[in-house]
Amino acid sequence: MIMLNSHMAKIANHLSLLLLLFTLVACAENTDGGETFLSEQDQPAAYPSGNQPLKSAAEIQDVDQLIALLKAARRIPNSSKWFEIISLPNDVYALWEPGHVEKVNSYLIIGADKDVLYDTGMGIASIGQAINELRAVLGRGNHPLMVINSHNHLDHNGGNNDFDEAWIIRDEWAIQKLTGGISGGFTTYWAELTPHEGIEVPQNFDPETFSIPPFPLQRVRYLADGDVVDLGDRQFQVIHTTSHSPDGLALYDETNQVFFGGDTFGGGFYMTRDMSLLAADLERISALQIRWHYASHGAQLIEAMQEGQRLAIVRRILGGDSKEGMIPFAGQEFPIYTLDNVQVVLATDFLIY
Ligand SMILES: [Zn+2]
Repeated sequence: MIMLNSHMAKIANHLSLLLLLFTLVACAENTDGGETFLSEQDQPAAYPSGNQPLKSAAEIQDVDQLIALLKAARRIPNSSKWFEIISLPNDVYALWEPGHVEKVNSYLIIGADKDVLYDTGMGIASIGQAINELRAVLGRGNHPLMVINSHNHLDHNGGNNDFDEAWIIRDEWAIQKLTGGISGGFTTYWAELTPHEGIEVPQNFDPETFSIPPFPLQRVRYLADGDVVDLGDRQFQVIHTTSHSPDGLALYDETNQVFFGGDTFGGGFYMTRDMSLLAADLERISALQIRWHYASHGAQLIEAMQEGQRLAIVRRILGGDSKEGMIPFAGQEFPIYTLDNVQVVLATDFLIY
C-alpha cells in the first residue's frame, strides 16, 4: 500500500510537472524570440500559459485569431461556478476547470442524433449536473449522450460516475484505473487550486477526503482503433494512441477537419512514456488534415497542426540529434529532449501508475 501510494504521489507530481513545463516552454518562447507575441497581460482569461502555440509569421497570425476567438467566445453560466463553459466553433462546448492547476478541458460535441462528452474532468464538481444544465439551455435534454474517455488518467475520468456508461479503449491498465477508483495518495495534488475570475471551488470539496469512486465494470463500454462514432450529421474516427498512456483515444472528423487528441498531442510539447511510441503516434496522425485541434489542458484551441514536421523532428531526436537536459521537479528529475520547436519529456514511470 505504501508502494502504491508512493506511485500515486509520483503521478500527481507528473501531472503538475506537465503544467509547469508548459509554463516554462511558454516563457522560453516569449523571451528567446525577441518578440513577445503573447505576454502575460495580453492573455485572455481563457488563454492560460499552457499549450502555447508555435511561432512562424503565418502561425502568429493564427495565434492572434485563436486568442480573439477564445476571448470573444460565449460563456454559458452554470450553477456549479466551478466549470467555465465556453461555446466554441463546430458546435463544441468546453467544460473548463481553470480553478485547478491542471486547467483540464472536457468537451461536449453536439450531433444531430447524439452528443458526445469527451472526458469527464476531475470530479471536483458534478460535471453531470453541468452537462444537464448546458443541454437544457441548448434544448437537447432528451438527446442521447455518449461519454468517451480520452484516457484513464485521473484528471479525465473523475466525473464518470455521473453517467450510466463510459466508452474507453479496451486495455487492462485502463480498466483497472477506472474500475478501481482513487481513494488516497493525491491530497497535495487535489489541493493545487488556482484562483480564476468567476470560478468558485465547491464548498463541499476537501482535498483531504476527496476521492474518485470506482466505476463499475458492467458500465464500461469499448471502442477500438478504426471504429466510427457517428453523431448523425458528422462522424469521428477513433484513433488509438499509446505514447502518453496505453489507452489513448483520439477523435478525428475528416470532413470538418476537427481533432480531439487527448494528452497525447500537445502542440509541440510531448510528455511520453516511450520515444518510439511517440514517433508511431505522430506517424498515425501526420497525414491528417486538421484545422481545429481541441486541447485537453489549458487553452482550448491549438494552432493548426503540422505533425508531419514534428514527426521528422522527433525522429531526429530519436537519432540522437537533440539537446538533452534534465528537468527537476518535486525531488525527481526527468530527461527532456529539445530540438527546434519540439520538446519531449520522458516520464515513463509517471504515466503508468
Ligand atoms: Zn491530462
